[in-house]
Amino acid sequence: MSSSLVTVAYLASAVLFILALGGLSTNDTARRGNLFGIIGMIIAVAVTIAAFVTRHFEWLVALMIVGGVIGFILARRVQMTQMPELVAILHSLVGLAAVLIGFATFLDASVEYVGVEETIHEIEIYIGVAIGALTFTGSVVAYGKLSGIIGGQPMMLPARHWLNLAIFIAVIVIGVQFVGESDHQQATVLLLAMTALALVFGVHMVAAIGGADMPVVISMLNSYSGWAAAATGFMLSNDLLIVTGALVGSSGAILSYIMCRAMNRHFISVIAGGFGTSGGSSAGPSIEGKVQAIDTPIMVDLLNNAKDVMIVPGYGMATAQAQHAVADITRALIKKGVKVRFGIHPVAGRMPGHMNVLLAEAKVPYDIVFEMDEINGDFPEVDVSIVVGANDTVNPLAQEDTDSPIAGMPVLEVWKGQTTVVLKRGMAAGYAGVDNPLFVKENTRMLFGDARDSLEALSQAL
Ligand code: NDP
Repeated sequence: MSSSLVTVAYLASAVLFILALGGLSTNDTARRGNLFGIIGMIIAVAVTIAAFVTRHFEWLVALMIVGGVIGFILARRVQMTQMPELVAILHSLVGLAAVLIGFATFLDASVEYVGVEETIHEIEIYIGVAIGALTFTGSVVAYGKLSGIIGGQPMMLPARHWLNLAIFIAVIVIGVQFVGESDHQQATVLLLAMTALALVFGVHMVAAIGGADMPVVISMLNSYSGWAAAATGFMLSNDLLIVTGALVGSSGAILSYIMCRAMNRHFISVIAGGFGTSGGSSAGPSIEGKVQAIDTPIMVDLLNNAKDVMIVPGYGMATAQAQHAVADITRALIKKGVKVRFGIHPVAGRMPGHMNVLLAEAKVPYDIVFEMDEINGDFPEVDVSIVVGANDTVNPLAQEDTDSPIAGMPVLEVWKGQTTVVLKRGMAAGYAGVDNPLFVKENTRMLFGDARDSLEALSQAL
């Protein structure tokens, strides 16, 4: 295949990837965006194989089939609630690929570099392996935290910031030695030493993040995986991989920034494992007050007398798969002439946009779904707020307890409405492990049970 044909095909893929990102920015265009991304990737893979693979073609096809089948089965089986874990583990594979390609490129004796070229090549390898290694272990720990294998509490080692600083300095010092080392064997040992440090750093960086800050880490690892891919592109001298990696890296960085702003966190403090914060880990003051449980008929009465209803979904809606029941209730209330709106917290659920995806799947009209910033001031005029499996994102302690892991995080102020009904199974805490005084407020009623069962019963009664 001629090199100009490859360039044109790569350019087309890059444009399709940019259109894909643009499409994914709104619900209406997301499907089209996905399609652009798929076409771009098919062109990219096909052209790369046709243009560059000269040997062991059978190995490549066999491994692609194995990988494709595993990916297909995983994608078919994975529940919507497990998507965040899946994304985290996929990021880890990008990191691992960068490490392996870095070592393979370094150990490959078939290509000789000299002078400045050699230095640049070694720097590319070193940076690529470093980002890849910390992305790999960081993503594996994130997977553990999101799937519940590892607890959500932050690991607060004494002098943890000094440990991070020491690792960072060691990585730089080893890097300088690595680039200056003429003995290949010695340089390999240095590369291995740095890899070990970066692996440890990845574990420590994510383990030190408290549950409530995990959304920032997810988007940050997304960004790192992009930069790891870009570094791999430099190592392999593949322009498309550089462009694609940079697109993923920068969009992930923008998403991390948006998440930080939404949660009122400083980006640097989050990536440095809570640096500059109190590192609050208290479960909050013990909650005193009376829990007022209600049943379906009382809830029906409340809704029959309401003119303005706000629905606030959270992770519990995803686990209960209650989005269709939510959509049914919405339709029933709108039919009765009730004004129904949705208030979405930016970190509700377990991945950015989680609630929006579920509501879109259940065909809830987009024009009644509002972001927290747009809707938070409206609660005083709301008759009934229905909290469907949300907890941390509606916890008033975020505003009241400065030592709480969620301190300073903006929350949906549901308690300012006339009556709040919380649908959950028991009194368990949310992801951040913080008790919630909303549940004992004077104007709060608890409708205990699985959110989907409660809503289906309610839908029938309405
Ligand atoms: P939370 O995780 O705070 O709370 C979810 C609540 O849902 C629980 O208290 C649970 O209570 C209830 N629940 C679980 N299953 C059911 C069910 N079947 N029926 C009814 N209720 C159920 O959810 P939020 O969405 O409010 O907050 C998200 C949290 O996750 C934040 O701390 C956020 O920082 C974190 N996070 C978010 C990410 C993102 O990108 N969005 C990524 C990683 C973490 P009970 O067991 O009593 O029913």
